Amino acid sequence: MSRLLFAANWKMHHGPAAARQVVHEVLARHRPVAGREQIFFPPSVSLAAVLEEIKGRRDVAAGVQNVYWEAKGAFTGEISAPIAAEAGATWALVGHSERRHKFGETDAETGRKVRAVLAAGLKAMLCVGELIEERRAGRTEEVVLRQLDAGLAGLDAATTAQVVIAYEPVWAIGTGTHATPHDAAAVHRTIRQWLTARAPAGARHTIVYGGSVTPDNAAALLAEEELDGVLVGGASLDAESWIRILSTPQPNR
Ligand code: PEP
Repeated sequence: MSRLLFAANWKMHHGPAAARQVVHEVLARHRPVAGREQIFFPPSVSLAAVLEEIKGRRDVAAGVQNVYWEAKGAFTGEISAPIAAEAGATWALVGHSERRHKFGETDAETGRKVRAVLAAGLKAMLCVGELIEERRAGRTEEVVLRQLDAGLAGLDAATTAQVVIAYEPVWAIGTGTHATPHDAAAVHRTIRQWLTARAPAGARHTIVYGGSVTPDNAAALLAEEELDGVLVGGASLDAESWIRILSTPQPNR
């Protein structure tokens, strides 16, 4: 049975009370399923509430949506990977398209962040993806591989294999337009080939898809063998819709 990862990126939604309530309802109604893991990425101020709710559930983890690469210092408004780890996070998202395109995060900065996350003992989920104009210009592969190259710079082969990659075409995020399963799988294959050339023989890379995943399209996307899971924004905010995504029938691969 293949392992499937279900990651919920709550962006700037759900303070501690709402976060607690949603996670409580999800876990009460969705019992652990073999081979499936979920990760909540709440706003940092809601992390403690989520951690309290997931206690005792080994199939569920929580992380932060962003970190700064320095460990500590005069960086008002930022949080570091060691501070996130001390607060109980076990994962960190790096290079989400909103960080890249709304906050001007560069490829090189994502690399510094991935290294900081791993040095702090957290697991990293590195997001990559092309803009619509880049796709139309036939530059998807070039853009995604450039982001991977910078995001994973300086890592040895074994460490590279540990980083989870989220392929999130920017034009699909929050738009209601998802990549077709076929197109998503094609980019995943490109990413996998690139990773396989740099990782120890036999390493199995985890690559998830994100971009307007909903309860209605999750099954078709996850039917693609290339997809090891999903990273979901809008449709993960509501317990009912998230539970439906978590309950996607085991793909027949
Ligand atoms: C995301 O925020 O990573 C995301 C994929 O958002 P949405 O599911 O809303 O498109």
